[in-house]
Amino acid sequence: MEKVLDNGFIRLVDFMGGDFSVVQSARVSFGQESKGPKQDIKLIEYLLKNRHETPFEHSVFKFHIKCPIFVARQWFRHRIGSFNEISLRYVEYKDEFYIPEFFRKQAKDNKQASIEEAVENSENLKNEILELYEIIKKFYNKLLSEGVARELARIILPLSTYTQFYWTVNARSLMNFLSLRADINAQYEIRMYARKIAKIFREKMPITFKFFIDYAYFGKDEEIFKLRDEMENWDLESLYKEQLDVWNRRSL
Ligand SMILES: Cc1cc2nc3c(=O)[nH]c(=O)nc-3n(C[C@H](O)[C@H](O)[C@H](O)COP(=O)(O)OP(=O)(O)OC[C@H]3O[C@@H](n4cnc5c(N)ncnc54)[C@H](O)[C@@H]3O)c2cc1C
Repeated sequence: MEKVLDNGFIRLVDFMGGDFSVVQSARVSFGQESKGPKQDIKLIEYLLKNRHETPFEHSVFKFHIKCPIFVARQWFRHRIGSFNEISLRYVEYKDEFYIPEFFRKQAKDNKQASIEEAVENSENLKNEILELYEIIKKFYNKLLSEGVARELARIILPLSTYTQFYWTVNARSLMNFLSLRADINAQYEIRMYARKIAKIFREKMPITFKFFIDYAYFGKDEEIFKLRDEMENWDLESLYKEQLDVWNRRSL
């Protein structure tokens, strides 16, 4: 489990596919599978370079995510994927709101963005938000104790309330998510989640990850390029062989 923000996390629950699955899906057109690591790796590079992306749809990740509601709202805009979210009609809200490390300043050149600089009064504002959260918690509990339904009591909860959901997504859609959300134009909070997703993606599909960053990633987050640069001395052929061995053992 990867911790994100003050109370959030990302957990990979399940995974199907991998770099070999990309090759297998692409070569079905020719009735073939592996041609050995060197040629298979070249094929993955070719596919990403030429935006031939359907073979990546056969690799699927299932994540369990805990994040503030405002992050989830941005996440749910990614339609190519499946979501199931915890319901505050069924369960009572747990005592968790997001508190930023500091209150960022509004950007001057971009109406949607912030800059990585605290407003002068940031510490005091943090104390005030804690007081506000206490009031909200008390009132929420009061509503419940008066017999108000959970589905109505929740209407007073702010966008900073933590929610949880499962997200199942194929590697093609995941790459689109990374380009848009692991990017300097994305809000800091969702960017923190996207960086963790990128790390998990690299772990499961290292060859695809490398060539995705080389040719298809259109975001601009330094941390993502660092993840690729760390791979400079990685032996891609051995990594691919390992995946292939696991795959072959599974098929027996
Ligand atoms: C920095 C940033 C700012 C944003 N600001 C806003 C905002 O102010 N307001 C707002 O409403 N949204 C905003 N969004 C959300 C954005 O418009 C997208 O909804 C979101 O990023 C999902 O992207 P997507 O459509 O590529 O992903 P997905 O929905 O996962 O779709 C993946 C791909 O499938 C294809 N596709 C999916 N559905 C269709 C369709 N119906 N027709 C044709 N092709 C389709 C497209 O090629 C698409 O790229 C913002 C996103 C970012 C990253």
